Amino acid sequence: MSDSLPADQLQALDQQHVWHPYGPMPSRTPALPVVSAEGVRLRLAEPVAGRDELVDGMSSWWAAIHGYNHPVLNAAAHRQIDTMSHVMFGGLTHEPAVRLAQRLVQITPEALQHVFLADSGSVSVEVAVKMCLQYWRSLGKPGKQRLLTWRGGYHGDTWQPMSVCDPEGGMHELWAGVLPRQVFADAPPGGFEAGVDEAYAAHLRGLIARHAHELAAVIVEPVVQGAGGMRFHSPGYLRVLREACDEYEVLLILDEIATGFGRTGTLFAAGHAGITPDVLCLGKALTGGYLTMAATLCTRGVAEGISRGEVPVLAHGPTFMGNPLAAAVALASVDLLTGQDWAGEVSRIQDGLREGLSPARDDAGVRDVRVLGAIGVVQLDHDVDVAAATRAAVRTGVWLRPFRDMIYTMPPYVTGDEDLALVCRAVRAAARAG
Ligand SMILES: *Cc1c(COP(=O)(O)O)cnc(C)c1O
Repeated sequence: MSDSLPADQLQALDQQHVWHPYGPMPSRTPALPVVSAEGVRLRLAEPVAGRDELVDGMSSWWAAIHGYNHPVLNAAAHRQIDTMSHVMFGGLTHEPAVRLAQRLVQITPEALQHVFLADSGSVSVEVAVKMCLQYWRSLGKPGKQRLLTWRGGYHGDTWQPMSVCDPEGGMHELWAGVLPRQVFADAPPGGFEAGVDEAYAAHLRGLIARHAHELAAVIVEPVVQGAGGMRFHSPGYLRVLREACDEYEVLLILDEIATGFGRTGTLFAAGHAGITPDVLCLGKALTGGYLTMAATLCTRGVAEGISRGEVPVLAHGPTFMGNPLAAAVALASVDLLTGQDWAGEVSRIQDGLREGLSPARDDAGVRDVRVLGAIGVVQLDHDVDVAAATRAAVRTGVWLRPFRDMIYTMPPYVTGDEDLALVCRAVRAAARAG
């Protein structure tokens, strides 16, 4: 390797030239250079507030469920890169993609039989939407081209996903009037265990009934709304949506990009409700946080509908579709997860988060504390001072990335009890500072 840049020089060049997520250019706040990662720890290029290592409370945006530098995932990546890193997917196929698709079909609800491998979560949502619009077009109902969702959601940063993100609190209000106009229901009432509010259920049914003639699909994040506000709701609403979609002939897309692979305590969050969507989006933890890959699964009915159309193919084909390297690591990650007592680990983390975060209820400025599976959230009664909150977490030895009024953690499932307690202390310290 060429000589590495000194940390301060790297930071300066980074600020000058490199966009970061939701960042200004040039950047106003320096990002922390990371040189390596191992287990649940990120190693910094130089100490910050006396810390040269940080316990990662974010799983790199909810993806690195097995932690970093995992021997099993590393071995899968090495094996694959020494064989074939990539080959086009048009007209060619390969074992990593076929086996991954087969595995995803095995572990998701029975009716989901077909897999489209996409290169990011947002693209998998684009593909899901395209599938649904094309399905209705093929069935001679081209007027069914709008989407219905509930407020408070997040589905990605490309165009169609942006149109179903929360139009107000979300990050895309800038584009109101430019994005396709979708149908928004009120946000689902909060609380995983709250039960179904019949008035709200009627509101959902009523909207679906009223707009059915123009709706291609309902799209929601099941049980946990992630980047739209880290809110939990009753799985009962998913049954309401499933029934109404069946009754009024609308497809149901579940976006499990954040909730998939055990995060909420069931392998997929739809499992809390026992329902099957027509289309399912997976991403984030799919490759254990190693490489970018996502998947859109659909039922036979959706695929058959599309193939009956005037254009009988799904017109989508990213250059890096089915990337063998990402597929090989994804397969290893899924097998690693399902081959262990993942539910036990997630439940252990849920207990640790409850114990460590519950006392924050009495802290000044805290509006709510909630935990579900390996997700812990402290919501403040004001917007977080992100710089101050991050500094407080780093001083504690933990990496957190708060947003809006939320300080939260989604730790890797391999986080040990002591590290988890440290993460909880850091969340509370960040809440006090921010
Ligand atoms: C992160 C996320 C996306 C977007 O995935 P990217 O890989 O960032 O494009 C979509 N939906 C949900 C629920 C997400 O959490």
